[in-house]
Amino acid sequence: MTEELFRVDSYLMSCETSVVSADEAGIELDHTVFYSMGGGQPGDQGILRLINGREIEVADCLKDRDTGRHLHIPVGEVILPDPGDNVTAILNWDRRYRLMKMHSCLHLLCSLIDGGVTGGQVGEWKSRLDFDLPDTSLDKEQLTMELNQLISEDHQVTCSAITSEELIANPELVRTMSVQPPTDAGSIRVIGISDVDLQPCGGTHVKTTAEIGRVRIGKVENKGKHNRRINVHLEE
Ligand SMILES: [Zn+2]
Repeated sequence: MTEELFRVDSYLMSCETSVVSADEAGIELDHTVFYSMGGGQPGDQGILRLINGREIEVADCLKDRDTGRHLHIPVGEVILPDPGDNVTAILNWDRRYRLMKMHSCLHLLCSLIDGGVTGGQVGEWKSRLDFDLPDTSLDKEQLTMELNQLISEDHQVTCSAITSEELIANPELVRTMSVQPPTDAGSIRVIGISDVDLQPCGGTHVKTTAEIGRVRIGKVENKGKHNRRINVHLEE
């Protein structure tokens, strides 16, 4: 199993590591800073630099459904490294940092809307959350104001773990109706934003909300009777 350094420190931009396996499915490393697609957050991009200086560009990172292998997917056809080769794994940090800002921002948005989350997608510049809401009259300007207010209050974002028993005892913690929280041997990772929001999540987040900067609520779309899709834009 690949050690996932980003779970403990989402600010690690690179690491020295080694190749466990490499085949047409992708490249598996001993440990990595690359987030693998999941929970609505895209997999990371970047490069793997070999000891001879050759660089392999990584287009995506994902978990193989059958084997659970944490795979770095190269861009196009490349000469694969050999197991045991030392590599430096380097993130496209600008992109990942925007995804972190956006992901934390979506948790803040959750705290402002009184409805279950039915889906969502974190994007670099534009993200969305779908809510189970009968009400069609969401005020975009008001939401934008409230969201930026929460951001500027500079709330601490912290990561901790609870047991599955604790989660069962507090079902309101699970905001996403479609996605099961990641569980690791009975322990569930939860992301807290001071007293604003707390929910199970496996994603990468900023340390404090002020890092997010300014955001804007975009289109609010009606996607079925109870489904409201709220788009959020990162303004830089
Ligand atoms: Zn999340």
